[in-house]
Amino acid sequence: MMIDPITFWSKVEKTPSCWNWISTLDGKGYGKFKRGGNWWSASRTAWTFGNGSIPSKKHVLHRCDNPACVNPEHLYLGSHQDNMRDRGKRGRSRGRFSKTFANGGERK
Ligand SMILES: [Zn+2]
Repeated sequence: MMIDPITFWSKVEKTPSCWNWISTLDGKGYGKFKRGGNWWSASRTAWTFGNGSIPSKKHVLHRCDNPACVNPEHLYLGSHQDNMRDRGKRGRSRGRFSKTFANGGERK
């Protein structure tokens, strides 16, 4: 399936940093579009336009924290593990509430 780059890039708003997909987004905020009855990933397609084909089993990941971004310079190839690690980074920093007063409340 050939995707027309002119049509593709017409759905992108380029800022000095991120290139934002301004068409359909999936539930996680990643760009997608329908072509030939299938949904295609905007970031994967942008990667192929900017950098060439994607080796099988590779994921296109974002260097920036913007899932709608399709700037080929903000994308990189990684494994499934990289993908999981990338997603896990957020939310893991939530520290446990420390019980500063664990020994408090003693009666005198
Ligand atoms: Zn970006």
